[in-house]
Amino acid sequence: MRKKTAAVVLAAGRGSRMKSNVQKQYLLLKGKPVLYYSLKAFEDSFVDEIVLVTGSGEIDYCREEIVDRYGFQKVSRVVAGGKERYHSVFCGLSALKDCDYVFIHDGARPFLTGEILERAYETVQKEHACVVGMPVKDTIKLADENGYAADTPRRDLLWTVQTPQVFDFSLILSAYTAFLQQERELLEKGVKITDDAMVAERFSDVRIKLVEGSYQNIKITTPEDLQIAEALAAPDIL
Ligand code: C5P
Repeated sequence: MRKKTAAVVLAAGRGSRMKSNVQKQYLLLKGKPVLYYSLKAFEDSFVDEIVLVTGSGEIDYCREEIVDRYGFQKVSRVVAGGKERYHSVFCGLSALKDCDYVFIHDGARPFLTGEILERAYETVQKEHACVVGMPVKDTIKLADENGYAADTPRRDLLWTVQTPQVFDFSLILSAYTAFLQQERELLEKGVKITDDAMVAERFSDVRIKLVEGSYQNIKITTPEDLQIAEALAAPDIL
């Protein structure tokens, strides 16, 4: 039977590092909101359904100015996110029913392509969990608390991790449910959850396969990133 795939696209959060009144995911890139591009990549793909997660005060804006305006047919729901990224992910996952695989993606990453989606989809069907990323090009140092180099991990084993992060739906939903039950204890221990793979690593027994994304699949976090994105966004890319 054909598998059902869904995407949770994240566009909540304040984005204070952008130093702008407009949140990063709504800033314009080549005349369209940054968020438009990742929705478009999913809309044009094999993915069946998209849940868009945004701030509670921006649901109408997103529906009217992005989903309706650009005619995204696959966006089934626009739901409110939460305080941390992982809360927003759980809001998105909770809005989905009856699906086999879920792609969790930062709406602030506009350079998602059909090839990346295909590669990740092929991998998740074999491995149950995978994250898109790229091998690092720089040497990475592990610092101690005082800012001195404490260790230099082998560069050929290091990756920077991007999104989408892709999972069997039931696996990631139960991992997130277990994690949120223990959220307070983990916070007290100083554990910071910064991506979905960390939740699966800690709260499921699956191994996470790394899949090549692209060096262009950047996240727009600071004003400089938007300048870089404008330069990358040659007409044939977006
Ligand atoms: O702020 P950060 O770089 O972690 O954001 C990554 C993605 O997660 C962005 O697309 C942002 O909109 C989303 N996010 C969210 N809810 C939050 C924080 C971030 O949906 N509370």
